[in-house]
This record gives sequence, structure tokens and C-alpha cells, in this order.
Amino acid sequence: MRLSTATVSLSGDLVGKLHACARAGFDGVELFEPDLVVAEESPEEIRALAERLGLRLELYQPLRDIEGVDPGTLADNLRRAEAKFALMRRLGIGTVLVCSNVATATTGDPIVARDQLRELARLAGKYDVRIAYEALAWGRHIDDYRQAWRLVQAVDEENLGVCLDSFHILSRGHDPAAIQDIPADRIFFVQLADAPALTMDVLSWSRHHRLFPGEGSFDLPQFLAHVLRAGYTGPLSLEVFNDVFRQTDTDRTAQHALRSLIDLQERTARLLDPPTAGTAPVAPEAFTFAEIRAENTEPAENLLQQLGFRYRGQHRSRPVRLWAAGQARIILNEQDARGQTATLAALGLDLPDVGAARARAGLLRAPLVFRRVHEGEDVLHGVRAPDGSEVFLCPPSGSEDPPWIGEFTHGSPPTASTITAIDHVNLVQPWEDIAEATLFHRSLLGLEVDSSAQVAGPSGLVTSQVMTDPGHAVRLVLNVAPFGARPGSLAQHIALRTDDIISYVGQNAIDTLPVPGNYYEDLAARFGLRPGFVDELRSLGLMYDRSGGGEFLHFYTPTVGSVFFEVVQRIGGYDGYGAPNAPVRLAAQNRSLLEGRHG
Ligand code: MG
Ligand code: MG
Repeated sequence: MRLSTATVSLSGDLVGKLHACARAGFDGVELFEPDLVVAEESPEEIRALAERLGLRLELYQPLRDIEGVDPGTLADNLRRAEAKFALMRRLGIGTVLVCSNVATATTGDPIVARDQLRELARLAGKYDVRIAYEALAWGRHIDDYRQAWRLVQAVDEENLGVCLDSFHILSRGHDPAAIQDIPADRIFFVQLADAPALTMDVLSWSRHHRLFPGEGSFDLPQFLAHVLRAGYTGPLSLEVFNDVFRQTDTDRTAQHALRSLIDLQERTARLLDPPTAGTAPVAPEAFTFAEIRAENTEPAENLLQQLGFRYRGQHRSRPVRLWAAGQARIILNEQDARGQTATLAALGLDLPDVGAARARAGLLRAPLVFRRVHEGEDVLHGVRAPDGSEVFLCPPSGSEDPPWIGEFTHGSPPTASTITAIDHVNLVQPWEDIAEATLFHRSLLGLEVDSSAQVAGPSGLVTSQVMTDPGHAVRLVLNVAPFGARPGSLAQHIALRTDDIISYVGQNAIDTLPVPGNYYEDLAARFGLRPGFVDELRSLGLMYDRSGGGEFLHFYTPTVGSVFFEVVQRIGGYDGYGAPNAPVRLAAQNRSLLEGRHG
């Protein structure tokens, strides 16, 4: 099917938007009238540019507040519409979107609406224009697609059909199943948008918070399945009004938008015909490694030594070192890192079918990462996540060392370790990237949003969104940096798992992030803990949480560059991340930053 987006979904000027859509791989666009009105190019120039770029101008939109009006207003509406039909001819656009009246309707009488829409359709016919009539969720008299369809049937003109917009239908909780009752040749256009579950007026929700498919809470595969079962074969077009996407880089948002449509088509195909449909995402089974990159990785190395990691060696052809404890492997990379302080640059994930994951990355047009390898070295295949971090798709090695470990030499052999594995990884997301990151990890890796929390920090509220596989083997926590947060005030971290944190801390001389005494007083009060236990936690610098019958003990290291470590012990099926303790950590890290104690 042809893939399209409304120009309103992107930032920039019309010419820039058309170029970005073509580069991303869209087949067409909906031309949003305000984008044309402010452009300096003539309609003929826009038409010629779209033709040269291979983009179809699928739809002109919107024409508002036409039907249910008094005769004087109707005459004015028809004059306005006729000017647009003539303009559409110059643009070479054959379909116009007409939204149900929200402002000027004086009557809800269906006979009046029918007669007035018929007049409009006959006028449009003179210009070979088709009208796609859309029920807005906040339409004054027509606010339901089933009502719009009844009206279109009553008018009974060949060039009048419906436009189905997932937002207007799903935001109102209307059952999309009746889409299948509409003949395919009367569905003139389909617009797709997702949205987060919010409690607010539907107009503000629609104008500011729409998301690309797969980023919100609407069941869009089900919606699209009804559309496809109806026999619709026209364009699938994104119409996403979102305050953030109006500000983000045009090319990047266009690529992000296209990825959402490809993913939605795939998910819908699996719903319609599971055995023969395309490639489902392959969920990862474990973290293979985490990589820290810096010009000088020694401060990170010092932390790893304190944490009881073993130095496993230096890479034979690159300035890269490996440290390991149990299945937790940390790569320290000094290649191409001049002037950089430590960042969490890459993750390796164990995937049961790397070939399928690579095929999926290609399908979703995920940017590939290139790393030069020498003769005889293992080739790792990676993709770049929206935050710039690299994700490497690794074959699972179970409890064995992965084969590429043989490329590290002059280190110590592994020994038994109290640290068993990487428990979770927290990645900081620029505030404008969270939707894109959610889609990326969900569509490519099959990770789903598990929970989301807001944590108060000194630079603002930090939204923390957990994404994980069904077995919770790989847990990624995406922390959204507050807008304008001081650089370095929010760091990334690698959390390591142990089964006995109390003896672990006792045995290793670890420089833990200081925890204020007030925290322990509050802890004792909140949970009714034994005083002796609270004293033990305090003396070891451990933090504590309890929920759902499980307990969580953890501590943080100081930060080097913008990375720190956490060590966690999960007891009795505790499934969280110690979120109630996060504000204490953020405040302590902020004090360290102000005191210049950052490594
Ligand atoms: Mg719409
Ligand atoms: Mg954590």
C-alpha cells in the first residue's frame, strides 16, 4: 500500500518537508493547507517538485465547517470551496478532506446536512475533485464515523466518500468494527495516529498529543485490520499533531514516521494472517555486554576493580579492554573518543535469531553501525538507537563466554563472582526523543513498555519508562532528561545483579554514593524495619525498597563522566527498580556534581 504522511506532522517549510518525505521513502503526502499558504513557491512549483521527488500529493486538507449552516453561510462556503477546488487542479490533487462542522452549524437536521453536502459534491465534481468526509471527535452534530457514513450514503454522489481517522474513532471509544460495513470504494482516505492514554478534552488531546502508531495506547493493528478487511487499498497516511514533532529535525522525524507505518503494517499482517505474515521482532534473552567509551577509561576501570570485576584483557587490534564478573561484561573503548568523558556507548544483546533481527532492522530502516574488523575477528552487527547509543545483535552464548572474548589477551581468567549479570541499564533520552526511542525498542527488539514513573530531581521531573521483554531478561530504563537540564546532571547507569549484596559490600572496599541519614529515618518509619537492619543498611550505604511481597537492596557508585554503576539484589520476586529511592540518588548526585567530585 502507498505510505503517506500529512505535512503537518513534520517541522520545517513545505519544500523541506517534501524533500524529507521523499528521502525517508514515503510514496506520498497530504498537503496541509497552512503549509501551502505560507510557502513562497507557487502551486505549480510545488506540484512540479513533488513530481520530481516521486511523491504523490494524495490529499488536500482541510476544508472546514461546510454543512448544517444557514443559506447565507452556505453560499459563502461554496464560494470558498470552489476556490480550493480550482487550486487543487493546479496542484494536481484529486481528493479533499472535509471535516464535520464544529463552528458554524446552526442545525443538526440530517436533511439539511445531506442537501448541503450534495451541493458541495456536485460543485467538486465539476473540478474532478473527490470529497473525503471525516467526522471530527468534537464535531458539533456529526462526531461519529458511522454517522458520517450514513450521511454519505444519503447524499449518494459518486465523488463523496468517508475519511477514517483512527484518532477521531478510537479517542471516543467508538467500535471500529463497523468500518467493515463500508464498501471499499466509499472509503476515500485513511489517516492513522496513536495517542497516549490521557484524561483531557479531546480537542487538546488531538492537537498536541497525537503520536505515531506504536507509541501510544490505541489498538491500531486492530483498527487497520478492519480497514483492510473492508477491502481498502488506498494510501495509509499519518496525521500526527504533536508539539514535539513540530520542533524535531525534519529528516529524522520523517524516518521515524515511516518506521512507525512499516511496523504497523507488519503488526496488522500478523493479526490478519499470523502464520504467513512477515518477521516478528525477536526479543533478546540477555545482555551480552555494555560498552563505556571515553578518551580515558581509567576512572571507570577503577570502579570496576572496586566492584570485584576481573580484567579479562586488551583487544588485540584496538584500544579496547574487557572487564567481567559472572555474565556481566563491561567493554571499555578508547577508540575514536578524543576529548570525550565516559558515556554508555553501546549494548550487546543476546538474540536467539540474529539473522531475523538483522532482517527486521533492514525492514525498519534502522541505521546500521559500522565497525572495522581485522582478519579472523568476529563481526558484530549493530544498529544505532535514537539516543545515539549502539545496539549490537549477538548470538546467544548461554553460560559460556561469547567467541569474541578470545580477541582479548593478557588478562586474567574468569573466577567465581558474586556479581552474576547485568540486571538493567538506564539510558538517558533527550526529552524530544522518547517517543522515537519507544518505537525503536518495541518495533526492532520486541521490548514492551512495562511501567513508567515520574521522579523529582534537582533539575526537574525525570520520567522513567521501563521497556522489557516478556521474560524480563533484558530491562531497559529510558530516563527522559528534563528540558534544559544542566549537562551531566542526569547520568546513565549499568545495574549489576548479585544474590547477596550484604556480604558483597562487606567484602569489597567500594566507594558508594553517600546516602543522607534522613533517608534511613524515613525508611524505618515507612516500612517498620528492625532498627538493627536499618543500622546495617546505613553502615553499608545500602538503599531499600519493598513492594508486592518482594524486597530490593541496592547501592550506587559515584559517577565517572556521565556513567555510574548500581548493584542490586532482588528478593522474593521484586520486579521494580527502587523508584522511591531515585530522588535521594538524584539529589546526592547533584551534590557531588556541585562539589566537583565527578570523575
Ligand atoms: Mg484527520
Ligand atoms: Mg537502576
